[in-house]
Amino acid sequence: RLQVFFGVCCKTYFLLISFLPFNSRFEKGRIYSYIGEVVVSVNPYRAMNIYGRDTIEQYKGRELYERPPHLFAIADAAYKAMKRRNKDTCIVISGESGAGKTEASKYIMQYIAAITNPSQRAEVERVKNMLLKSNCVLEAFGNAKTNRNDNSSRFGKYMDINFDFKGDPIGGHINNYLLEKVGRVVHAREEQRMQGDGLDLFFFPIHISRAGLNSHIKSSINDSADFKAVADAMKVIGFTTEEIHTVYKILATILHLGNLKFGNDGDVTLIENSKLVAVLGELLSTKEENVEKALLYRTVATGRDVIDKQHTDQEASYGRDALAKAIYERLFCWIVGRINDIIEVKNYDARIHGKNTVIGVLDIYGFEIFQNNSFEQFCINYCNEKLQQLFIQLVLKQEQEEYQREGIPWKHIDYFNNQIIVDLVELQHKGIFSVLDEACMNVGKVTDEMFLQALNSKLAKHAHYTSRKLSPTDKSLEFDRDFRIRHYAGDVVYSVLGFIDKNKDTLFQDFKRLLYNSSNPVLKAMWPEGKLSITEVTKRPLTAATLFKNSMISLVENLASKEPYYVRCIKPNDVKSPLLFEYERCKHQVEYLGLLENVRVRRAGFANRQTYPRFLQRYKMISEFTWPNHDLPSDREAVKRLLQGCGFEHDVAYGKTKVFIRTPRTIFSLEEQRAEMV
Ligand code: ADP
Ligand code: MG
Repeated sequence: RLQVFFGVCCKTYFLLISFLPFNSRFEKGRIYSYIGEVVVSVNPYRAMNIYGRDTIEQYKGRELYERPPHLFAIADAAYKAMKRRNKDTCIVISGESGAGKTEASKYIMQYIAAITNPSQRAEVERVKNMLLKSNCVLEAFGNAKTNRNDNSSRFGKYMDINFDFKGDPIGGHINNYLLEKVGRVVHAREEQRMQGDGLDLFFFPIHISRAGLNSHIKSSINDSADFKAVADAMKVIGFTTEEIHTVYKILATILHLGNLKFGNDGDVTLIENSKLVAVLGELLSTKEENVEKALLYRTVATGRDVIDKQHTDQEASYGRDALAKAIYERLFCWIVGRINDIIEVKNYDARIHGKNTVIGVLDIYGFEIFQNNSFEQFCINYCNEKLQQLFIQLVLKQEQEEYQREGIPWKHIDYFNNQIIVDLVELQHKGIFSVLDEACMNVGKVTDEMFLQALNSKLAKHAHYTSRKLSPTDKSLEFDRDFRIRHYAGDVVYSVLGFIDKNKDTLFQDFKRLLYNSSNPVLKAMWPEGKLSITEVTKRPLTAATLFKNSMISLVENLASKEPYYVRCIKPNDVKSPLLFEYERCKHQVEYLGLLENVRVRRAGFANRQTYPRFLQRYKMISEFTWPNHDLPSDREAVKRLLQGCGFEHDVAYGKTKVFIRTPRTIFSLEEQRAEMV
């Protein structure tokens, strides 16, 4: 029955109530399902033959429920809304690491590229090519191999594609969010050989001993075919040779920094492998002694005097790691900025071309609950709270609007509103981010423990916050440094260690000046704030938490202004197996993606809705009053008569243009009756 049901049609929302069909769908390779207009996708972990030209043709221009569930259907729905109704739309893809978000975003882009520009305008083809190529470059620099995903994006990406009045792509824009750099740049501890065509010029170190870089960059550079693909993509996008060379030099710098060791000789901090300093000077187009000075000293202003204060070897190591992270992040942001310069719609004249509409695709990290959760997980989970809040509002809002439009009474259903958790994190003066920022503003040494104390005293009564101090008998809070947030998706214990440092995210001014004073103009342009001398630096840079919060608020505003479509990705197992569907694991994801809520909302209303003509087209053979044609005054009356005849009166409501069917069982039954007739 399910087979027939899925094969043929229908927006229905029942699948997820029972895992049996969900599970067996996975086994049969039906990786997509719908909850209303939400696509639920399960990572197949094997190549699927469902993205080719013929599949694209099947979905092109079709209604969502005319074909089996597929990403292409949602992409087409977003495209149609944009083209026919002139709406800006967005597709929000979420799920945990390795669930298939980035792959999904690529298929969506490919679909849009494939169905647009039927007249093969050269300019449009060029834009499409750029948009697709930009992905390749961003992945090379922003992804890493982690134990969860061989190609894990360490940044959230939002990409707008702009369309002209014909519905063809004319440009785009990318926003990136929180590039997670710690694990990528500083902590990887493999020995790795660097090779690659034509890279000798850039002094890539033969061995990286202590630190690794983003391991994906490593493998890209190791594998000369991959490396060439990235280099070619950069060329196609329009990076100059000088720019590309600077990128290599920066990568080499990061790798060398990882090898740099400090020691001390009595009072004096020294660089143990000082030969590297000359190499760094060369790579950064600056004098060797400037590099050495920036690594070992910081300039401080004391009253009217400016003095050079020597780092301890710990401070020097801290500075070195901060530098590696900062130049990696800056490089990434610069690459995004350059891509934007090139792909952005220029001189678009709405008077001539009509309105320029947008489809946005958001590929962002899902909820993370690890063994050890730190500042990064805290930010990522806050992001998911924001998106969940938006989801609740939009799904309910849209639902409600449709009932209103159709004149159907709407009964409010209860759902957990996570605004309280969003507030717990972001509220001015009271939220965790504010408490953290306040702690970071204090002069003198503020420790993570002091920050935790401040949280405890401010949030002791908050229903969604607790800590070891506040709940001493709670077993999940193992250490004094732990605090716990009750997220909408479940409880997460965070370790407070590192919050202060990561939030301050400080880079000694001396490094900024060093890089700004480089004779390499590309590098110099990346570090404009290095222009300020020590006495001029007065403004405290915004903290990582504040920057992230602001970017999330504007992301949500942006998404809320568009018509949203959702893709929820589920990871079936932890071993990348195409055969294993781990029930408990999937259940957990279904819970924290808010899918149960989603199903509940849809079920409190009506599982299925169809316009009268479409309903008749599909089911008119069931009733003698409607087959082959009806003579009733309206399609609405005809549908009424048909449903009365089947005894479904109690399960339906009649709107102005659509019939609403409450339970999927009714649809099953209609489908069955139809199948008997045809
Ligand atoms: P995420 O972005 O959610 O972390 P990815 O999109 O990078 O996850 O997917 C992780 C891996 O899973 C991919 O490298 C690929 O091997 C596999 N995968 C994901 N989606 C698909 C798909 N639709 N078909 C085949 N393999 C997939
Ligand atoms: Mg990804």
